[in-house]
Amino acid sequence: MALPQNPNIFANNPLDRVSHKRTDADWLAGRLLHKDSFMLPMYKENIFTLPPAKPGGAPEVGFMRPNMFADALAGGATVLFLGLDKKDRAYFAIDLTGSDTDPSKSGPLKGFGEFGDLRGLAMSIDAHDASIAAQAKAVLKWHSTHKFCSTCGAPSVIAEGGYRRDCPQCKTQHFPRTDPVVIMLATLGDKALLGRQKIFPKGMYSALAGFVEPGESIEEAVARELFEEAACRVSSVTYRFTQPWPYPMSLMIGCTAVADSDAIQVDGIELEEARWVSRADLKAAMEGNTSAGVMIPPPFAIAHQLVRQFVYG
Ligand SMILES: [Zn+2]
Repeated sequence: MALPQNPNIFANNPLDRVSHKRTDADWLAGRLLHKDSFMLPMYKENIFTLPPAKPGGAPEVGFMRPNMFADALAGGATVLFLGLDKKDRAYFAIDLTGSDTDPSKSGPLKGFGEFGDLRGLAMSIDAHDASIAAQAKAVLKWHSTHKFCSTCGAPSVIAEGGYRRDCPQCKTQHFPRTDPVVIMLATLGDKALLGRQKIFPKGMYSALAGFVEPGESIEEAVARELFEEAACRVSSVTYRFTQPWPYPMSLMIGCTAVADSDAIQVDGIELEEARWVSRADLKAAMEGNTSAGVMIPPPFAIAHQLVRQFVYG
């Protein structure tokens, strides 16, 4: 049985993470040297891309052969094991940020491609490759910002293929973090609640959102955020789907919630305005018609998918 398709970009990662293999250092080393393995180079959080295979096509994620990176590996570059594909080929990522200059301009990558921003590339590159790149980006970002033990301050070392850092001094183990964020549409009959922040483009409205706090359930976080930002009380919360969001390492948890009434009042801090938008106006906005004065975020965003599900079921 396969999982149902998730509508969000960065979800549907095709790799088997085989987490039980991460403890086997010899197996990992063997896969790292294997001629059929792949290595995704990253540089300053940008992913390596190859030119389009066909003229006018989209760039492709640059999965290269690990033996191209012997010097970087010998120099201690951070390497992350990503998983195995259906043909049992291993995928790794390597962080070349330690390089003084753009590694696509010189050295073994020169002439093959260039580094690009995942956010800009996400909707044009292969969706499965985008999800692999998101995995790499989020975990490598964690390593680059967690080099020291948060218990005793000593430098920590990478372990388990990149899914743990160990402190040699106090023996604390540290694990990559994922920050949960609830993002939700409050609904009331045929209407959904959307809000806008000052920084949004003119006419853009989106789902309300906020971080889940420690000791809080998803349902409580949804209810709290809707009340804090828009004084909207809800009586039930339904989970819809999630989106891995590597900016820097969040998990967007998409929900809907049934509002008690249409009474709202924005906080003026996080939101400058909120409004109830009818299903018909949201359908028009989905189709690019902004006559109701509402634009919604692009398909890249989980907010778009929440609106789509509300409109089309
Ligand atoms: Zn320590």
